[in-house]
Amino acid sequence: KAKDKGRNETVLFAPELRAHKEERKLLMEGLDTALEKGEISLYLQPQVDASTKAIIGAEALMRWQRDGVFIPPSQFIPIAEETGHIHDLGRWMIHETFQLMYAFEQGDIDLPKLSVNLSVRQLFDEHLIEYLTTLFERFPIEPGRLNFELTETVAAHQSDRVLTRILELKALGIKLSIDDFGTGYSSLAYLVRYPIDELKIPREFTMQLEENREYQTVTATIVAMARQLGMALVAEGVETEYQENFLRKIGCDSMQGYRYAKPMPLDEFVIYYMKQTM
Ligand code: C2E
Ligand code: MG
Ligand code: MG
Ligand code: MG
Repeated sequence: KAKDKGRNETVLFAPELRAHKEERKLLMEGLDTALEKGEISLYLQPQVDASTKAIIGAEALMRWQRDGVFIPPSQFIPIAEETGHIHDLGRWMIHETFQLMYAFEQGDIDLPKLSVNLSVRQLFDEHLIEYLTTLFERFPIEPGRLNFELTETVAAHQSDRVLTRILELKALGIKLSIDDFGTGYSSLAYLVRYPIDELKIPREFTMQLEENREYQTVTATIVAMARQLGMALVAEGVETEYQENFLRKIGCDSMQGYRYAKPMPLDEFVIYYMKQTM
């Protein structure tokens, strides 16, 4: 019986699997030329202080638009990480981030922080520090305004290699945050071991706050811990007034979410910034 069932499932799911495989193949091939074809761009999502309404920073998010259609990062980033395309794509993002910060500092845009996601593979790139040093020479920006968002997977690599690399980034003056804190499988010891500046409360938690008391407790505990450890906090995916009020009540004032603004291209971001600071 079990054998029959297994065979049936194989028959049922085979076409779906094949479609999935073909889609992956198409994405992989597309990634080979996405950069040179100019299909990759950088969007900015503001982060705001909910009590003062001031812009406290922005997160740079990668966008891939192919034949007029946006392919979601959740689809192509994992593939790019697997294939190694993330090295070139990630470098492109870092370069854009420097260029942007430099332009902002030259202009009258006083953006306190610009965050960019750094995948573990990029963190382990032998030439990362050399690359960043070159960029600081070309674009002499204030290093403390640059923030790299790492995921908890870095903590899974409890190696001296990670610690060394993190200390090298800190030596350059760059700030570090842990993205989607509490959604990975990691020990908390790394928070003590690594000099982390900021924790980001994941959207997965924020979206449960209204319905789920357990998520309220977990989120409040993260906030309390971060504050005690002297770390900054940003809550992600804030969409409702309830969520904002709850987060403020437990001590988190920094918000990122559709309630304030969606990720947007540079020209829109500049207009948004001007409006907020007028
Ligand atoms: P993330 O770093 O946690 O980024 C936050 C994601 O939440 C973004 O999705 C953002 O658009 C979305 N978001 C923010 N506020 C709200 C909200 O109120 N409601 C909803 N529904 N969504 C909200 P996005 O841009 O699709 O990126 C997804 C993930 O892809 C990112 O999650 C990050 O892990 C990865 N990613 C994006 N850009 C890059 C990049 O340049 N490099 C690397 N390595 N990963 C990237
Ligand atoms: Mg992020
Ligand atoms: Mg996140
Ligand atoms: Mg996420």
